Amino acid sequence: MNLIRHPWNLVFLVGFIIYIGIRHVFERRAKGNERIFRRIDALEIALMGLVGLGSLLLPVLYLFTPLFAFADYVQLELVPWFGCAIMLAALWLFWRSHADLGENFSMSLEIRKEHQLIRRGVYRLIRHPMYASIWLFGIAQALLLPNWAAGFSAMVAFTPLYFLRTPREEKMLKEVFGEAYAEYMRQTGRVFPRFKWERR
Ligand code: SAH
Repeated sequence: MNLIRHPWNLVFLVGFIIYIGIRHVFERRAKGNERIFRRIDALEIALMGLVGLGSLLLPVLYLFTPLFAFADYVQLELVPWFGCAIMLAALWLFWRSHADLGENFSMSLEIRKEHQLIRRGVYRLIRHPMYASIWLFGIAQALLLPNWAAGFSAMVAFTPLYFLRTPREEKMLKEVFGEAYAEYMRQTGRVFPRFKWERR
């Protein structure tokens, strides 16, 4: 098993369990706030399916079966240390963004009955801190799993979802919150803060 052959993979597994645990806890909390609008079409389902494959199925198969052993490579000793640091940052941001979004959270493109536009906490500077944390988690996965298939799979799978969903999500939020969201867009960046000199 790869957990024994590459002890750093155990670190990945612990982070992975915490990551899934955070999602589970906040998904349950948001359930009380009824959904009133959904924009989940075939594209959205396909994008989420791809993310499920790359960030859940492949790493699990890699960790617990020899299926992907053919794609193992040897990494520099320092690399997983960086992976561990990035994993901690990813988990912190993943947790903070769920906590700040609170009952407004959804796995997909949805609006809830008591939906509020959140601009506080980690949403003060960037509009997509949760997606930023998913990118960070994907980078940590690549640095902690020395395998060409399972290491990069989360990043590869998240790329189309991020680039195709983000504009649709912003369009939906602009339709619901109007000028307030447009103003929020002018003041913030997607995953990198927008600095003052850029606003002029
Ligand atoms: N893209 C955000 C949120 C991901 S969760 C991030 O990366 O942090 C997806 C849901 O969050 C969407 O269905 C949308 O309704 C909701 N959402 C996104 N930004 C929001 C905000 N600033 N305030 C309230 N809800 C938001």
